[in-house]
This record gives sequence, structure tokens and C-alpha cells, in this order.
Amino acid sequence: MAASLVFRLHDRGPEVVREVLLERGWEEYDGEEQEEEDWNLYWRGSAFRSSEYHNLLPWQRLNHHPKTVGITRKDCLARNLRRMRATFGSSLYDFSPNAFILPNDYTRFLSEYNKLRATRGPSVYWICKPVDLSRGRGIFIFQDIKDLVYDCSVIVQRYISDPLLVSGYKFDLRIYVCVKSFHPLTVYVHQEGLVRFSTEKYNLSSLRNLFAHLTNTSINKFGPFYKTEKERVGQGCKWTMSKFRHFLHSQDVNQLLLWQRISSIVTLTLLTIAPSVPSCPNCVELFGFDILIDAMFKPWLLEVNYSPALTLDCQADITVKKELIGDLIDLMNYTLVDSLRERAYQRQPCFHPSHVPALSKFKETKSQKQRSGSQSSQTLPLIQTHRPVAKMNQRRSRQHALVANYQNHFPPVDLNKIYASRGRRVNKTLTDQTLNLILGPHSRTNVSAVSRQTCPALAPRLMDNRSLHVSEVTRRDDTETEAEVELEAETDVSSSIRDIQLGGLGFRRSKLPDIYSGSLRPVKIPLDRITALNRQHVPPIRVGDFIRTFPFNAATLRASQHKLDVKIIIQELNRLTAQLASSGKKRRRREEEEEVKKETDGEEDFDSLLWGPKDPPLLNQCFKPT
Ligand code: ADP
Repeated sequence: MAASLVFRLHDRGPEVVREVLLERGWEEYDGEEQEEEDWNLYWRGSAFRSSEYHNLLPWQRLNHHPKTVGITRKDCLARNLRRMRATFGSSLYDFSPNAFILPNDYTRFLSEYNKLRATRGPSVYWICKPVDLSRGRGIFIFQDIKDLVYDCSVIVQRYISDPLLVSGYKFDLRIYVCVKSFHPLTVYVHQEGLVRFSTEKYNLSSLRNLFAHLTNTSINKFGPFYKTEKERVGQGCKWTMSKFRHFLHSQDVNQLLLWQRISSIVTLTLLTIAPSVPSCPNCVELFGFDILIDAMFKPWLLEVNYSPALTLDCQADITVKKELIGDLIDLMNYTLVDSLRERAYQRQPCFHPSHVPALSKFKETKSQKQRSGSQSSQTLPLIQTHRPVAKMNQRRSRQHALVANYQNHFPPVDLNKIYASRGRRVNKTLTDQTLNLILGPHSRTNVSAVSRQTCPALAPRLMDNRSLHVSEVTRRDDTETEAEVELEAETDVSSSIRDIQLGGLGFRRSKLPDIYSGSLRPVKIPLDRITALNRQHVPPIRVGDFIRTFPFNAATLRASQHKLDVKIIIQELNRLTAQLASSGKKRRRREEEEEVKKETDGEEDFDSLLWGPKDPPLLNQCFKPT
């Protein structure tokens, strides 16, 4: 009997995750029957505790990276974008409406309000949103400052009053972004997504009508016209992104440029927190980016959702979200070894499928153990001491023993490749015909596009011998003080969250996923190693409908491999966007590209797709003369 991968859902949800995983042959974790560590994926809507990152085992993945609150809470996002504007210029970071965090920024807001009132009269609109609420709760739009009333921390933002409309209805885009890794930054954006409509026609003379001004499904599904046919929008309040592409096709719009601008927004937003997110290779994050397009086809970032809704309200949800979760699972790179979990680390030569002992041979449930009153002969001996110290010691001693076995029996991996990323060489090279992927019968991943040369999920554990630091995870920014009103004094909120050093856990320190504060000294890579290194670390160009949007060329790959070089990345983003904006610059772009090719000899086979279009072209094809 083959071993199954096991998932664990916090609070029984989301249902679509359960459904997709069960269809793929996964098992749901049962706390009564299974060992505490006997799972491969733990999915939570809310943040994990720091101890859950501390205790991650090699076969386990979490669906959140630590410390991403810097973009997922409205006030933190506003503050971080403001910091980036101050550093890199307001023309680059001009994709989010100016926001003021009240009450702290009240004076600044007042002066901006008065300035605009004097120059433009009352035709400027504002939107007020509670910082820690979602789903449209507590939001209102106003023109006159006397209507600004609040009793909690809010952000006040310029209201984009000229949105692009479909048959008179306002909409925004929900873009699904997967950050596979923050170190190096690796970003995928899903081809499908949702378009969310308001259910009453847009009208600036009725600012209080939330069914006309907000596009949240949680609001509009209770609107009187939700089920009515609404001209081109149809019934309900959602389209798939594919349907939206058809709509764009009917408009006179440079689609490639629009998609690229959205993709840039995603990258630029992630750059605001990427340097301060601790590295955690066994975590992924699915963000929901909300993008509003205005009448001039300029995309605006409204907010970034942590744990975007996965409820299935309508057919568009079913079409989009099921595929999305399937592709996300493919992106997580589970291997045969993962499905064996702890058994893969015991004294069994079990890494080749033919050596994998039957699951039943190892499986002894908690109840069986109680009945037999003894530890399974297949599991490692536990030390009997007093609780809770006893429990911790038991875990540790078992982990130490597991490591010993892990080192004896680990599948052959090319250690040169792995150590190269730390600037070290090892003499012992082992073959790397190693781990089979378990993509499952429902995987839509185009395996040819997925070049997993070694097992990426395992490599980080092998290469990190440094002490492990784990950062506390929080969703709240409690660090704000009055002193922060000064722009210069503003810091990245997430960097102020203290790091916890985890000492004394030999197993976790040497073998577990690379979770550390990011404050360690950058590793110097000898120049002659870089080309080879880059070849190894180019993440797959697409996985299912997830398109890799970062890194997108050799320069951004290099700029993200070690210490993130934000300036270079921004330069490259600008270059790409400018190229798509102006076909007249095609030739110059080609010349520039050829120069880059010469400089990065050996990396010219780096390909990227342009995220957005149905059949995404290779980026370099976008610039070929028509
Ligand atoms: P929530 O987290 O409560 O959903 P959002 O920031 O996403 O808060 O805002 C909810 C809705 O309000 C958006 O989906 C959009 O329709 C509208 N909205 C928000 N900010 C703006 C803005 N600055 N300009 C125009 N519409 C906005």
C-alpha cells in the first residue's frame, strides 16, 4: 500500500481545500488516530504561532510565511508603500491611492484635504476604511470632511472616482499570488482570478449606496439586484478572469501592458516586505491582490488579502478556486519522501519506491499503542520523564535519533550543487537520481515546464548548518507610536517584531527548514560559481496556471539570489514595462537585451512568460517585431 500525504485543516475549513486534496488521494489528519507530527500540510486561515514554525519537520509545509502583515493590514501597507515612495520615488510607487492612517496622520490629511479642496473644489472623494476589518465592513465614502467620523483606527484614502465600468457597473480584480519563497524571492501569479462587480450602477451622487461603490461579494450578494440580469455583467456579481479577457479584447487597450503593470504592482508590493520576511522554505503564501482599473486603464492596488476567501458562492468561484488550489498544491513540490513522513527518517532503506515498506507495517495508531501498552518496534524509543519537560525531551531525543538515520539513509543528492549556494564546496558528489514527484492523478502541472532538478523541498535542510532563528508571527502591528508620524522615522513594521533565537535543538538547528531572521551576514559566492548556481535555481516557468512573474530574467534572478538588490529589480521592472508601453522602443530593447546576454553568458536560456494573456507568450516574444 502506498503512503498517502496527509493534510490538516484548522477549524474544519476551507472546504475547497479538503475537496481538492481528497480528490488527489490525500488523507485528512485525525488527531485521535495519528501521531502529532503525522501530517504534510497544515492549512490555517489565520497566522501560525511562532512555535509552529519552530517545530516544523522536514516533510511538513505551512500555508503562511511568517511576518507578512506589512502588506496585509491596511495601515501597514500604507506605511510601507509610503516608505518605498520616499526611497524609490513617488512615480514608481504611484499605484496605490495616497492613504492617511488616522488618528495619527490627521494633520497631514487635513492639509492635503484643504489643498485639494482649494485647487479642485468639492470634486475630490475620499474613502474611509477600518484598518483591521475586511469584507467591506465599516467602509464609507465622503466628500466633505465633516462627514468623516470614526471610532477606531482607520485609513482614509483618495477614492478612485473614475473606475472603468462594464455596462455602468464598477468592478475590481482579485488576483491570486503565490509567494513560493521570500529567499530567494519567487513569485507566481495565477492566470485565472475573479472579477468582482458591484450590483447597482455606479453613481457619484449616491455615495451611501454601497451596492454601487463597493465590489465585495460579501456585500453584494445581499443586494436587491444580485440575482437580476445586469446587461453585460449578467446575473450575480462575479466573472472569471477569462471572461474579463474577452471583455478587454473588445476594448481598444494594450492588454499586454495592462497585465505587465499589474504584475509589476505585485512585485513592487512584495519588495516592501521581502527583505524582512524570515526565510522559511517549507512555507508558501497565497495572497489575494485587489486591483481596481480606472477609466484610463491604469491599475491601482486597493489592498492585499491574507487568506483570500475560498468559499464557493457561484460557478465562477468553483471554476477558479478548485483549479487554483490544485495548482498551489503542485507548487508545493511534495515528494515520495514527504508521504513517508517520519518513517523516511527511520532505519529503513526506504527511499527507492521498491524499498518503501508497506505503510501498514509501520502504522500503529495511538489507540493500538495504548492497547499494546508499548512503543512500536518501528518507532524510536522514547525517554520516560515527567511532563511537560518529559514530552519535549521525548520529542528531542527522537528527533536526534531521526537525524542520525537521516544522515545514514538520505537519498543521494548532489551536495556540490547544494553547498554552492553557501559558497562552499564539498568533494563528495553523489548522484541525484532521487525523488519522484507525487503530482497525483489530478495534477494539471505540465511536467515538462517544471524542472525540479533536485528535490527543492529537501535541499535547504541539507545546506543550512547555522543556528536557527525564528521570528514571532503576528498579524497586528502594535508597534506604532506617535513618534512614527515623521516620515523619516518610519520603519518597516515587520522588522520591529522581535526575533526569537532557538537554541539547543540540534535536530531543528541543523536539519529543519531554513527559518531565520534574515539578519545573518550575506554569503559571498565566488564569481565562477554564479552561472552554474543560477542554472540550478531557476524556478519552473509555470506550474499549472501559475505563471512565474519573479524572477523574470537573468538580472532579476541574480538580484534576488542572495541579498535582495531592490534597485536592480526596480530598474529591470521599469525597463520591461517601458518596453511594453512603447513599441517604438522595440529595437532599442532588443539591443539592450543582447548586451545583457553577453554579460550573463551562460544564462541566455532563462525564459519567462508574460503573465496575463490566455496563452502567455514568452517575454522575449513580446518584443519581436510584428
Ligand atoms: P475590505 O478589506 O473591507 O474589502 P477594500 O480596501 O478591499 O476593503 O475595499 C473594499 C471595496 O471598496 C473594494 O473592493 C473597492 O470596490 C472599494 N474601494 C476600496 N478602496 C477604494 C478606492 N481607493 N477607490 C475606489 N474604490 C475603493
